[in-house]
Amino acid sequence: VTQHFLARVQAEQLGAFLATNADVSLAQARAADARLAAGERSPLLGVPLAHKDVFVTRDFPTTAGSKMLENYRSPFDATVVSRLGVGQPGTQGGAGMVTLGKLNCDEFAMGSGNDNSAYKPVQNPWDLSRVPGGSSGGSAAAVAARLVPAATGTDTGGSIRQPASLTGITGIKPTYGRCSRYGMVAFASSLDQAGPMARSALDCALLLSAMAGPDPDRDSTSLDLPATDYAADLIAATAGRTGAAPLKGLRIGLPSQFFGAGCAPDVLAAVRGALSEFEKLGATLVDVSLPLTELSIPVYYVIAPAEASSNLSRFDGVRYGHRAANYSDLTDMYKKSRSEGFGDEATRRIMIGTYVLSHGYYDAYYLKAQKIRRLIAQDFQKAFSQCDIIAGPVSPTVAWKIGEKSDDPVANYLADIYTLSSSLAGLPGMSVPAGFGAGGLPVGLQLIGNYFKEGQLLGAAHQFQ
Ligand code: GLN
Repeated sequence: VTQHFLARVQAEQLGAFLATNADVSLAQARAADARLAAGERSPLLGVPLAHKDVFVTRDFPTTAGSKMLENYRSPFDATVVSRLGVGQPGTQGGAGMVTLGKLNCDEFAMGSGNDNSAYKPVQNPWDLSRVPGGSSGGSAAAVAARLVPAATGTDTGGSIRQPASLTGITGIKPTYGRCSRYGMVAFASSLDQAGPMARSALDCALLLSAMAGPDPDRDSTSLDLPATDYAADLIAATAGRTGAAPLKGLRIGLPSQFFGAGCAPDVLAAVRGALSEFEKLGATLVDVSLPLTELSIPVYYVIAPAEASSNLSRFDGVRYGHRAANYSDLTDMYKKSRSEGFGDEATRRIMIGTYVLSHGYYDAYYLKAQKIRRLIAQDFQKAFSQCDIIAGPVSPTVAWKIGEKSDDPVANYLADIYTLSSSLAGLPGMSVPAGFGAGGLPVGLQLIGNYFKEGQLLGAAHQFQ
């Protein structure tokens, strides 16, 4: 199996992979074989996957899509990587999956089209002239093109859900804190969350069960909740399925703000088509309101850059990252190293973040954004008093042309309108293929759950699929 997928990966021309190493992958496959031969039976053992290049890995370089980390090699594996993997020789290992390599992404996960990667753009396999979404664009393209059965992604403001939507695959961002952030190159620490991207809700459930769980010694924000066997729950629910209405009793809330003029008609039509299928499965649709939806963009684009400016200060050419070849003194070394290492979007966010955190502006921007963030979270709780799951589009349009928005950061930011609010609230959200829009391009349906309700989201998506 590993050889089959390796051959596909080695022939790929989508720009999805940043690093591969056949020797490493085949050694991992042999380790998985040894576990099988010893009688171990578990669903992910020996199944290949690839990791977004923001997860640090001992056996592959980790760049986070940035020149700053070109050729960087981590001395350890991220918690998510070790939980999914076969383990280092002599260690017990995790779920036993075989790593095929590292996947392209926007620099430090900042972007919506993968066009902020310092290395190369990624093509959407449905239309090679279009973006796969971002920032987990390499993960989405690789799964959609069947280069890998599954991939990891990270989602700070939509980076699992939006590329999943634009490439017609399934992806879930769990509740903030479900998966350990240890070994994930940090972008905005109060928002960053890991999650699986795969062909179906069932595959995502298998992966998430292995990825999730407390990591108290390494990530103080990881939730103190035992990992759930999401796949077993799904299979049990399907086995007990009687009659034609397995979602009877499920109330799906439709926020009016997600169905307005800002969303392209072809996307709305596909989303409404999917929702009528949920009705046929027994769910009821109810109208809800998330009045602060529009504010999620300015709030996110204050808080995320603020945290990014702090997180990216570690890339100073001393502790981590690229160091300029010639410099006159220490300050000059910092300046040149950082100017050479960071791309435009990372630089822009460092500047915005530093500005909004600076004395005299902190109260006006950062503190105000934090207060509105709290109100956004409260709005969701009001909505959840009327429904179990919230649904809507993931992205206001289908995939756009590569280069179309590359010089327009605000156009990119506005496209995040439907994913940011649930990220700010820390809620789980997923993208499920809903159908097709203009040009036969995939459209995702977004399902947002209340805290810790990943199982409910995955279950509803599974019945639909
Ligand atoms: N598009 C958003 C941004 O550029 C979200 C990115 C993410 O979730 N990593 O910040």
